[in-house]
Amino acid sequence: MKDVEKMKLDLNKEQKMIIDEVRRIVRREIAPLAAELDERGGFPDHTHKVFAENDLLNPLLPVQYGGVGVSCMMFSLILSEVARACASSALLLIAQADGTLPILHGGSQALKEKYLPRLKNDSLGLTALAATEPSAGSDLLAMETVAVRKGDTYLINGQKCFITNGAMADFFVLYAYTDPNKKAKGISAFVVEKQFAGLAYGKNENKMGMRGSINSQLFFKDLEVPAENRIGEEGEGFANLMQTLSYSRLFCASQAVGIAQGALEEAVSHAKNRVQFGKPIAALSPIQFMIADMAAAVEGARLMTLHTAALYDSGEIRKAETRAAMAKFVASDTAMKVTCDAVQVLGGYGYMKDYPVERMMRDAKLTQIYTGTNQIMRLVAGRSILGGQKESHP
Ligand SMILES: Cc1cc2nc3c(=O)[nH]c(=O)nc-3n(C[C@H](O)[C@H](O)[C@H](O)COP(=O)(O)OP(=O)(O)OC[C@H]3O[C@@H](n4cnc5c(N)ncnc54)[C@H](O)[C@@H]3O)c2cc1C
Repeated sequence: MKDVEKMKLDLNKEQKMIIDEVRRIVRREIAPLAAELDERGGFPDHTHKVFAENDLLNPLLPVQYGGVGVSCMMFSLILSEVARACASSALLLIAQADGTLPILHGGSQALKEKYLPRLKNDSLGLTALAATEPSAGSDLLAMETVAVRKGDTYLINGQKCFITNGAMADFFVLYAYTDPNKKAKGISAFVVEKQFAGLAYGKNENKMGMRGSINSQLFFKDLEVPAENRIGEEGEGFANLMQTLSYSRLFCASQAVGIAQGALEEAVSHAKNRVQFGKPIAALSPIQFMIADMAAAVEGARLMTLHTAALYDSGEIRKAETRAAMAKFVASDTAMKVTCDAVQVLGGYGYMKDYPVERMMRDAKLTQIYTGTNQIMRLVAGRSILGGQKESHP
């Protein structure tokens, strides 16, 4: 579709091949099942299998641990391609990255070698990140989960909620206070395996959108975690979490760009085919204006997102962190507005489940909330720009 064509990127031959392959897989395997997955709700088994078979379940995992080791730019493009057809499937990849990066960035070499190969290409290994609690959402320092050291083991007590992939993860990264008096400097991170004694699962949530993913309650009663499974030193957990969440905001922005792109394409196609008053509604100025605004917004969000990815790839991390917060709220607000307008362009059909735009609208809403709400993103960006306090929110 020429008029909604995306910006041309200077990708090398191998990168182009990866994106072409992702498009092919999405068209053949993911898109046809997106509506059914949304309707049924639950873990995306087929997506999981297809991604694993095609070395796509954890594209960021470095080659030395059995992954492909793509750049942030490539991962961003992959997420957008997948989300364009099925946002839930993109969320599976984001949860995988969220559970991988804390170990990759903060774990000892022994910990990396113990866990990261379990996520290697063609493995079905799943991971997750568990930080949120019922009384600690935006205010993560209010978490109540505590880890007490007893010899070579930590005993962890508490609970987590909303954890993407939670009940399916073979292992996940858990954040808990080792010294609640020290606040941000008193949180530590641990790798927890599914079979560790003291881990129990609660309900998986019934959600408005991104229904093709699970979000679980996790309970810890004297959960026994070997001390060697601590990521970094005691007290380094909060910094590790903030670092991971900053990347995750780029991933969320990439997902939002994909959702918005998908909705725009649906709106353009419908406008060209739907005839009212004897001509396609595409000939009507109000529709043309709406489409023009949607296309411009998507392009703006995409450019910001890709620029953020490029900053991470070039090692300009401080700049990238602020940009990630901004890209996250710009792209997700764009996805919300564009999907809502797409429903409007489709009129009554847009409101029906026979068409994908109502699903995209419900999916878009989550991108304004998770991995730090857009209010918190504005706080993070504003403080960084104005040189104010350091972030203590997700
Ligand atoms: C589908 C889904 C998947 C998720 N996946 C994960 C996961 O895998 N792992 C994980 O750890 N967590 C996960 N989360 C949790 C998610 O990150 C939190 O829901 C989010 O950070 C917001 O926290 P909250 O829901 O408690 O909202 P609250 O913090 O209660 O916020 C409620 C409202 O108050 C506003 N608000 C709060 N504080 C401020 C402030 N200081 N200034 C201005 N406004 C403020 C918020 O913006 C929001 O509008 C997930 C959530 C959802 C819904």
